[in-house]
Amino acid sequence: MSWYQSYLPLLEKALRKTDAWRSKFGDVQNWPDDNSSENEISDVIDRLQKRLEGNYPFHHPQYAGQMLKPPHPVAWIAYSLASTINPNNHALDGGPPTSKMEKEVVKRLAKMVGYDTPYLGHLTSGGTIANLEALFVAREIHPGKKIAASSRAHYTHSRMCRILNTPFLEIPVDGQGVPDIDFLNRHKDEIGTVVVTMGTTGLGTVEPLADLLNWAQKNGVRVHADAAYGGFFNIISNHLESRRHWEVLNEADSIVMDPHKHGLQPYGCGSILFKDPAVGKFYSHDSPYTYFTSDDLHLGEISLECSRAGASAAALWATLELLPLTRTGLGAVLEKSLEAAHKMYDELKDSEYYEVYQQPDLDILGYFPKGEAKNVSEVSRLSKAVFEKGMEQPEDGFHVSLFRVSAEEFLDRFPEYVADEDHVTILRSVLMKPEHLEFIPELVQRLHQKLSEV
Ligand SMILES: *Cc1c(COP(=O)(O)O)cnc(C)c1O
Repeated sequence: MSWYQSYLPLLEKALRKTDAWRSKFGDVQNWPDDNSSENEISDVIDRLQKRLEGNYPFHHPQYAGQMLKPPHPVAWIAYSLASTINPNNHALDGGPPTSKMEKEVVKRLAKMVGYDTPYLGHLTSGGTIANLEALFVAREIHPGKKIAASSRAHYTHSRMCRILNTPFLEIPVDGQGVPDIDFLNRHKDEIGTVVVTMGTTGLGTVEPLADLLNWAQKNGVRVHADAAYGGFFNIISNHLESRRHWEVLNEADSIVMDPHKHGLQPYGCGSILFKDPAVGKFYSHDSPYTYFTSDDLHLGEISLECSRAGASAAALWATLELLPLTRTGLGAVLEKSLEAAHKMYDELKDSEYYEVYQQPDLDILGYFPKGEAKNVSEVSRLSKAVFEKGMEQPEDGFHVSLFRVSAEEFLDRFPEYVADEDHVTILRSVLMKPEHLEFIPELVQRLHQKLSEV
């Protein structure tokens, strides 16, 4: 029996109990109620099921392409169950139990990052909105000043600055992906906030938060940590080369983390934390509806989004009850991904046919086929060919992704190559499933096989 099927009885049992709770309020002739519509639903679901088979096998370790994986069964059960009630965490009235759960999980996140004094925080529908909130507050605190982020930061930052009508400044990085402090010094009078990415979306690079905080504190600049991807690795930071940067995460003014990236959640779950709860004043609004039953600060009063799925809070709450934010809880899951990336690094490092692009900070590895001719166009051509070839046959194939870097950056690492083009495309693998660890030898073997066929 599959993973999901074996958990299905738990969902059924919980649904039955929830139905019993519903019936306490008296019988309702629910819609739809007749068999014909049941048959119609069955037909639609059949067709949906078929269409969903058009997905790549996100659940399988042969899928090592983008940041995608199915949620933990407990998250899926909790989400499904709560969605039959459909609470709205916009306001306490919209879902008292799930609002309480949201406060509890946010408290756990705050504790994980070391915010031990009063903070402000809530869940969001994702990292984009969470970052928007952080940049919105940054703009309110330093009006007219620039928001700076490295060229490796998620593209959402520059785009959100356009939405916020705030000037954006791109910080150049060196060949190792380290933001240029001299550049920051030259622009220090213009900058109000600097964004530091803890695990870049491209190669999972942890930017040097300790150094950037040091610079920012000296210059009265605000620091926002975008840990949408990497945040949960804080639990096992003792195992990371970048540990000194995680140790000071609690000094960042705001932090974004995505439970739907590395927190085993279905999509629709990001989070934002602010070190200073007083920033809640920037969210103030005067709504004539909702908010009747409590004097507490409502989640809807500290969030830019209005309606939000209470089911997301339920799912994260249930997951963290099972797998707390500790070394032996969620940490044990993340450790395997980290190990997988290092294992793949070790195997490809000694390969005759592939070259590793970087030592992985987290669980994302860049690499490329060596080829005969030492020029970047040949690297790009072979990378694309292997990428395509891997997807041809599901039985012995794989799904990896492509990543584009400037030829200048590439040559910084591999000076023996000739830059016959401006950019070079390499291969990239996101090894975010614990199942990847065991599969690495097989994946590497398949990569060699497919390269020999192109
Ligand atoms: C994924 C990601 C985002 C965007 O978050 P979404 O949840 O996709 O909206 C922002 N920053 C980083 C570093 C990310 O990895």
